[in-house]
Amino acid sequence: MKFDSIIIGGGVAGLSCAIRCVESGMKTAVITAGQSAMHFSSGSIDVLSRLPNGESVSTPFDAFPALAEQCPQHPYSKIGVNACRQALAWYQGMMEESGVFLTAQADESNHYRVTPMGTFRSTWLSQQTVHQFPMHALADGLSTIALVTVDGFRDFQPQLAASNLAALEAFRDVKIKTANVELPDFETMQRNPCEFRSIDISRVLKDETKLHAFAKSLIKQVGKADLVILPAIFGNGDGAATIKLLEGLTGFSICEIPTMPPSLLGIRLEDTMKSHFKQLGGLLLTGDEVLGGDIEQGQLKRIYTRHHEDIPLVAEHFLIASGSFFSKGLKAERHTVSEPIFGLDITDTPHRDHWYQPQFFSPNSHPFMKMGVACNDTLNPTIRGEAITNLYCAGAILAHYDPVHEGSGSGVAISTGHYVADKMIRAQQQQQQQQPNTDSKTQERTHA
Ligand SMILES: Cc1cc2nc3c(=O)[nH]c(=O)nc-3n(C[C@H](O)[C@H](O)[C@H](O)COP(=O)(O)OP(=O)(O)OC[C@H]3O[C@@H](n4cnc5c(N)ncnc54)[C@H](O)[C@@H]3O)c2cc1C
Repeated sequence: MKFDSIIIGGGVAGLSCAIRCVESGMKTAVITAGQSAMHFSSGSIDVLSRLPNGESVSTPFDAFPALAEQCPQHPYSKIGVNACRQALAWYQGMMEESGVFLTAQADESNHYRVTPMGTFRSTWLSQQTVHQFPMHALADGLSTIALVTVDGFRDFQPQLAASNLAALEAFRDVKIKTANVELPDFETMQRNPCEFRSIDISRVLKDETKLHAFAKSLIKQVGKADLVILPAIFGNGDGAATIKLLEGLTGFSICEIPTMPPSLLGIRLEDTMKSHFKQLGGLLLTGDEVLGGDIEQGQLKRIYTRHHEDIPLVAEHFLIASGSFFSKGLKAERHTVSEPIFGLDITDTPHRDHWYQPQFFSPNSHPFMKMGVACNDTLNPTIRGEAITNLYCAGAILAHYDPVHEGSGSGVAISTGHYVADKMIRAQQQQQQQQPNTDSKTQERTHA
């Protein structure tokens, strides 16, 4: 099977690259083994919340020069601020076309999103169903907040979140209520408490009659509130539409918060991207795993997968976006770290004792988080120092950044995926332009 571009890994980095390629008319395939990190994420897009030296960042793009100074090898330093801006603008537009509205603050600053613990995390883009708490006026416009859960649901404890919120100076004058709402069908679902997860609740609330009953109970339990905070229990694809309906039924302004995995807010992004890619004509091979490939004269020629061991997949351009340790894109042994598909060069690995900070919740970055595939400035990896010119890397497999400490995870993934797609598109266009010349030269030679 022959493609213009093949993408290894269907997380946010791989899918961003794949959608951009297929939008430009390239014949594109994505091969992806398992669930991506999006299934565990908040569904908000972090761009940059902290510099490597720990200094907090309020306007991510303004911090790029300081980032480049502190970490010239950082993926953002390689692609530059304009490529990152372009990528995020493209991502917002592409998701909006598919009905997922992601917005930032008008002044391009980070905002806070509330966590299930009632603490705040800084981020840059949030979905339309997530309340954006401004960094400098957290409780702006709020006099009463209600934290609500579904009776028997264990993945969100409103009392705990409320006590943490109430301890904050910014919420001193805000009334914080908690409430539990009964779910129709609860008795039947409760037969197996392990199955009572956000995804199960979302199935019940898809039924409009049950949503109406839920709305009635919500009004009764909450009374009046400026903001009603609920766990994300409203479906993958149509979750935002269900919330809009619920807001109409109750008159409340509703904010979703991500729960324990599976995180419906994250899955919503992944499902939207996958459907969009397929709608545009891309080929998505899920549940398959790339095992290896043939590299000849500095170029990756073909790859082999678990399901297609005998039929190689051939392309002009390849992206590896197989994630970090979490997704098995990187593999750690006792003293070594490796990239398991091609054996790509990894950044220098210190002695095991220096892979992590002694404290798990350390204010400093855990060094292992910055380990990954070493790339040149155009994100091509190397094997024993030799660059593979038609293979690129994007997302969490890349070295020199810490998505957790910096709060830069999806931002790096989207922008490096988009940057690589632009490289592939340009190379493809150049090849096409050269094609007629080559043909005419061949004709001339044949004629002579
Ligand atoms: C728990 C958690 C929570 C996070 N929360 C946030 C958040 O709220 N906001 C934010 O911005 N960032 C967050 N991040 C960071 C961010 O989600 C990741 O940095 C980003 O999603 C990485 O995307 P990726 O596409 O590079 O990799 P991944 O999402 O890890 O995807 C890699 C994909 O490649 C597949 N794969 C691996 N090996 C192969 C193979 N051999 N063949 C085929 N496929 C393969 C995997 O199965 C996986 O589907 C979070 C990360 C984690 C781990």
